[in-house]
Amino acid sequence: MAEEIAVRVADGYFPVETLGPGRRLALWFQGCALACPGCMSRHTWDPAGGRAATVGELLELWEAALERGAEGLTVSGGEPLAQPAALAALLRGAGRLREHAGGTADLLVYTGHEPGEAPGEVWEALAGADAVVTGRFRVAEPTDLVWRGSANQRLVPRTPLGIRRYGPHLARGYPPGPRVSLRADGAGTGTRVYGVPARGELRRLERGLAASGLRLTDPSWRP
Ligand code: SF4
Repeated sequence: MAEEIAVRVADGYFPVETLGPGRRLALWFQGCALACPGCMSRHTWDPAGGRAATVGELLELWEAALERGAEGLTVSGGEPLAQPAALAALLRGAGRLREHAGGTADLLVYTGHEPGEAPGEVWEALAGADAVVTGRFRVAEPTDLVWRGSANQRLVPRTPLGIRRYGPHLARGYPPGPRVSLRADGAGTGTRVYGVPARGELRRLERGLAASGLRLTDPSWRP
């Protein structure tokens, strides 16, 4: 059964408001071989890292988030296309559940691949996505465009819902202010940074936290 498909994940959290429009469930897949210099999520690179889950468990998180008013699901990583069967099953199941919840919540996937780069059967795993952000993160090509980490990355709506949700944002820049949010849950899992930081924002964040007496050990963006 699709819900029994195994998947390794780095994290999951609701609500996240920095990775797409509205209050969203964000799921980070574990494992990425693309190794972009400057990646803020090096902890997601090891395919054996993170934790084991099933697609069914992730769908339970999505169902619970929808009950709490989630406006979308963002799947990031890591590289979601590195686990194509799990991604495809997750998007199919998430699409079914959102129809029962009014049909307005969108499904967004971040991939470091360009269209045509991954084999067709792997790219097909994105079939259930309403929108995708494609392309490697290139640290030397900053951008002000919302939800993209570098100027080469493309935000591409793929469905009528995706066009409605993302069309108004394709050329929209970030307003002044922080682009990331911080979560310190105190449960021994460390401090989490959610979002797409501006150039230098993570260094400024570290300095600000240090000034408040909180020193980050082993930040995931440092080699
Ligand atoms: S930025 Fe994304 S695609 Fe690039 S190494 Fe990091 S997780 Fe992988």
